[in-house]
Amino acid sequence: PLKVAIIGRPNVGKSTLFNRLVGRKIALVDDRPGVTRDRREGTAELGDLLITLIDTAGLEEADPGSLEGRMRAQTERAVDEADVSLFLIDARAGLTPTDRHFADMLRKTGKPVVLVANKCEGAAGDPGFYESFALGFGEPVAFSAEHGLGLADLHEALRAHLPDEQPEDEAAAPEDDGTVRIAVVGRPNAGKSTLVNRLIGEDRMLTGPEAGITRDAIAVDWEWKGRPVRLVDTAGLRRKARVQEKLEKLSVGDALRAIRAAEVVILVVDEQMPFEKQDLQIADLVTREGRALVIAVNKWDRCEEPDTRIRELREMADRLLPQVRGMPLVPVSALTGYGLPKLMQAVFKVRERWERRVPTSELNRWFAALIEHHPPPAVAGRRIKLRYVTQGASRPPTFITFGTRVDALPESYRRYLLNGLREAFDLVGVPVRLYLRKTE
Ligand code: GDP
Repeated sequence: PLKVAIIGRPNVGKSTLFNRLVGRKIALVDDRPGVTRDRREGTAELGDLLITLIDTAGLEEADPGSLEGRMRAQTERAVDEADVSLFLIDARAGLTPTDRHFADMLRKTGKPVVLVANKCEGAAGDPGFYESFALGFGEPVAFSAEHGLGLADLHEALRAHLPDEQPEDEAAAPEDDGTVRIAVVGRPNAGKSTLVNRLIGEDRMLTGPEAGITRDAIAVDWEWKGRPVRLVDTAGLRRKARVQEKLEKLSVGDALRAIRAAEVVILVVDEQMPFEKQDLQIADLVTREGRALVIAVNKWDRCEEPDTRIRELREMADRLLPQVRGMPLVPVSALTGYGLPKLMQAVFKVRERWERRVPTSELNRWFAALIEHHPPPAVAGRRIKLRYVTQGASRPPTFITFGTRVDALPESYRRYLLNGLREAFDLVGVPVRLYLRKTE
């Protein structure tokens, strides 16, 4: 997990934030007698992030005479251990000299800082929120630990500091010009190389005199009908083509690297033997990594009864990969070029779904209606109350539902919510995450 230290002067709301994120149940509070209660650690789920929180609370109870000194030691130790510091200020109180002192100290460590303007509910926090830009940590996350507001923004800000998310190379760097990053994966001989060459429309990657020149290139950029596309991690393909080793085993490491670098993954399967164990393993990896999946059923030129076959394949795909039921399944022939426009159309379409952001108001209107129509069951005679839902992240769509006794919610009801989300907001065929969080 990402290790996160909560830093700030007394009374800015550090413990409230800690409790809000960790919840009472899983807090590992170190309050054995005799242990100075100046530090707590807990694990929290925030959207799709698992984080370890270090709370430097308890300072309020410290000997006032030595407060400065103790704060300094505490903070430095926590910051040192953490990947990221959450630096809290009280937006209602505005910036104080102590805040500035902390800011200087944090800046000197050179480690990542996410500035959180707490107590931002209502307008009373506005001046403090704007004032805190001056600390030089960029735009603050407007937050209310007390009311649980700003969780999605906090999630986004923390996510940027995930070690895995750090771009390792150019191919993994996020694009903001609308470039779609795709990876082509599949079993050996499914036709990946042929497909890639056909899509790009020239043989510049795998063969010919340029092969030597592009040997170290890991990505290929091209356009599909005017839209920029980047094919990531072609190294695996190229390596194989060079060696002409057709019997090699699928390397999960290679596939995983390609999947992580991509937004949309095209899984190429052979029409004659689709959905073998390896195909399903790759598809499962794709959805577990939260990427959008498109299945290209290749060698369609050999298919004798396309109409029957496509129905069969649809049924198989939905049964074998229920987590992304309804995913695009496109018959293609890499050899003749058949189906490639449809394939690329499907790529753009799922990418759009994968990036979708549903406005909170719309989400909660839908949520209220769904719950009224079919309320959560009572468990052991007690009602489970679901209060509201927010979208914590996109890419893939990630939702957080808040309520009481959510850990007793039956899995069937969770699936009901998930399927409802998929249908109501056109998220069919992409991985959707749903987390439950407890409110008091
Ligand atoms: P890779 O290992 O997945 O990269 O597969 P290749 O692209 O090297 O293709 C494996 C074999 O399948 C080659 O002999 C290709 O000519 C053949 N192949 C690829 N696509 C098609 C297709 O659409 N139709 C037919 N009939 N054969 C294909």
